Amino acid sequence: MSRHSKNNTALGIFTYAEKNMLKGYGSQKNRLGKDSFKNFEACTLCLTRVKDPVCCEKGHLFCKECVITNLIQQKKDKEKEIEIWERQEQAKRLLAEKEEQDKFVKKVEQFERKETLPSGSKIDLQEHEFEVKGIVKEEEKERILAIKKLQEKQLQPDEKKDWIKTSFWVPEMTPQAHKTEVKKPTRKLLCPSHAADDHFLKLKNLIDLKIKLDSEEKEFICPLCNKTLSQQKIGALKKCGHTMCLDCIKKYCLPDKACTECSEKLKKKDVIFLKESGTSFASHNKVEAERYTPAFNG
Ligand SMILES: [Zn+2]
Ligand SMILES: [Zn+2]
Ligand SMILES: [Zn+2]
Ligand SMILES: [Zn+2]
Repeated sequence: MSRHSKNNTALGIFTYAEKNMLKGYGSQKNRLGKDSFKNFEACTLCLTRVKDPVCCEKGHLFCKECVITNLIQQKKDKEKEIEIWERQEQAKRLLAEKEEQDKFVKKVEQFERKETLPSGSKIDLQEHEFEVKGIVKEEEKERILAIKKLQEKQLQPDEKKDWIKTSFWVPEMTPQAHKTEVKKPTRKLLCPSHAADDHFLKLKNLIDLKIKLDSEEKEFICPLCNKTLSQQKIGALKKCGHTMCLDCIKKYCLPDKACTECSEKLKKKDVIFLKESGTSFASHNKVEAERYTPAFNG
């Protein structure tokens, strides 16, 4: 037995016991309890019992007030985003116009310079100007040559890369914050459920739900079987808003093609499956949370 065997760190490999001791390594799974889920009657936004229940087409339940407040806020935010985007676009347009103008001015200047040149002369303006004006002095020529030499001596791109690697503190290399471009925002509003299936929501598409209360007005019940609406699958009818167990809808409403409460005609597509309430039964919900932690680097 090796000297450090009591501390389990003496071997070149991990033993089974050591792997078990490594908590927080690799994929970790945990089964969620009932507390991790929303109750059926809870509003998706305020998590208290719904007042004036409404739902979206995907079956997310809200209080009417909560969802309207949320949509109004979203609209205000969108307007701000659009304003920022419009300002950005206008700045871009102005910049493009200025560039066009500059180009034109440069072209005109070039043309004028060429026009003043005697025919057959070189286009190298610097030298030409000196020659034309007859002020070419030896000193001046030397100066120009020296500058040219210096320019040739400038660092090659590859050399510059090495230089940057070792001289990151030079002011020239200081990173600068660039303006991030704002993408064109959409005017469409999102359903505030923040569920995995993000979808757009219009105020007019909200469905007012009619959910029956029990005699003590404490719990929501199904009007057909009088069971409390909580853990079973629950459906709402799109046209009239009556809410009952999905099984009861299948049993009584669908065969008659009408709502049993108000006789409103319905088709199969008019039944909205309300997002299930929280139970820890695997058949109702995905009850396992999984997290991956990068491998242990020992
Ligand atoms: Zn609410
Ligand atoms: Zn929704
Ligand atoms: Zn029922
Ligand atoms: Zn109905």
